[in-house]
Amino acid sequence: MPEGDTVFATAARLRVALAGRRLRHTDFRVPRLATVDLTGRRVSTVRSRGKHLFIDVEGPDDARAADSAVSIHSHLKMEGAWVIGPIGRRWRRPAHQARVVLRTDEHEAVGFDLGILELLTDPDAALEYLGPDLLADDWDPAEAAHRLESLPDQPIGTALLDQRLLAGIGNVYRSEICFLGGMLPTRPVAAVDVPATVDLSRRLLWANRLRTARTTTGNTAPNARLWVYGRRGQPCRRCQTPIERGELNSIGGDRVVYFCPVCQT
Ligand SMILES: [Zn+2]
Repeated sequence: MPEGDTVFATAARLRVALAGRRLRHTDFRVPRLATVDLTGRRVSTVRSRGKHLFIDVEGPDDARAADSAVSIHSHLKMEGAWVIGPIGRRWRRPAHQARVVLRTDEHEAVGFDLGILELLTDPDAALEYLGPDLLADDWDPAEAAHRLESLPDQPIGTALLDQRLLAGIGNVYRSEICFLGGMLPTRPVAAVDVPATVDLSRRLLWANRLRTARTTTGNTAPNARLWVYGRRGQPCRRCQTPIERGELNSIGGDRVVYFCPVCQT
């Protein structure tokens, strides 16, 4: 499932392919953007913030630069992916899933099954509501802790997914962070060591930001990468108790959460 680490790595790959390059062909395959054509315009940069991705495109040469710069904002949600390769390479996903195609002289970037795809003229304004980005160079742990502590009654499992508090955690990480912190996902924030949880979250995402296979256990072997997520009924890696699966309200995300009923209290 795409989370902050996936989006960070995707932005890094898109930046290599697109930043500083001119778009030679653009094809938006969603009705609202069907008439948009950014051909001839230059990509200034590609950046991520939490689980959001921005491809910043300069205005056309004949306009004042600040006039019509736009940002292609996308969000992978559950199934989305950006695939980057040389022009003409066969796509590994069916063409009907393609939502946008961007070509430079050398590369093609195709966004498949994007949960959000829109053009923004002021991306920073749209993102003002997001909490500190766990993978940003200027990551602000004190601000993240402050925002979490502002909701003391919220279950920690719900709060970790709230992108207004801190940005980048998805459903896999929230289960893993709760396990590593010894906390049931239902434990209220008021009873959580918030600075330690914030620090743990950053370390886990940071360690995985450029890995091809996400691991929270440190083990990269298949079936050994995660402590609890997706392991319902299998023995806890610490105490052998069967891992349980429950449901927890979350904003816009999957409700499912996994935990060990003995190691987490
Ligand atoms: Zn256990």
